[in-house]
Amino acid sequence: MLIAGNWKMFKGPAETLEFFDRFEAPDGVEVVICPPFVSLEAAVGEEWTIYAQNVHWASEGAFTGEISAGMLVELGVQGAIVGHSERRHWFGETDETVNLRCHAALEAGLSVIACVGETETEREAGATDAVLRLQVAAIPQHENLVIAYEPVWAIGTGKTATPEIAEEAHALIKSLHPTRVLYGGSVKPDNAAELLAQRNVDGALVGGASLDPESFAAICRAAVA
Ligand code: PEP
Repeated sequence: MLIAGNWKMFKGPAETLEFFDRFEAPDGVEVVICPPFVSLEAAVGEEWTIYAQNVHWASEGAFTGEISAGMLVELGVQGAIVGHSERRHWFGETDETVNLRCHAALEAGLSVIACVGETETEREAGATDAVLRLQVAAIPQHENLVIAYEPVWAIGTGKTATPEIAEEAHALIKSLHPTRVLYGGSVKPDNAAELLAQRNVDGALVGGASLDPESFAAICRAAVA
């Protein structure tokens, strides 16, 4: 089981170190933590696997505000999230740029968590299957890449997909792309065990509940229970 914590735009370097002072995870779970760029340097000095939340496709250049895969490798970062729905929604991320970012990260030796997921409107219109097929088709197959299924309507909303909805989407994704598939969308200590018990759920990408060391540790424990 892989349990990844996406801290989004929370925790500068000082709060990052406070988190690690209090965080403990059980053996038998692969833990990944994804702090904001400015906190990566503090985080890589700790004992955990650290990923960035985004990575650019060029090795360098006039791309103000972006960070390259080589820069992350130089810092000791081991991977990156690519295509999170917040990047797709607020920053114009497309399947094409997701594809470019994945390739650049993998070629530089980074691991990737590539995110897919339908919006509420798409689900209500019966388009979930078609949306997932298109998004998954843009993601390269590689041993260092896993997919996170994150229904957009469940992210940060407290609305978790039922285990059945998650299982159905994960089975579809795995039929298209042979990889591990994490579930993301309001995963909390009290719903993690049920979601992680599904046959095709190989872990979780956790946002809000990864900010607190105790609740993130509780989710990690649910993964090995
Ligand atoms: C996320 O940021 O990937 C996420 C799933 O957020 P949350 O757990 O807060 O819904």
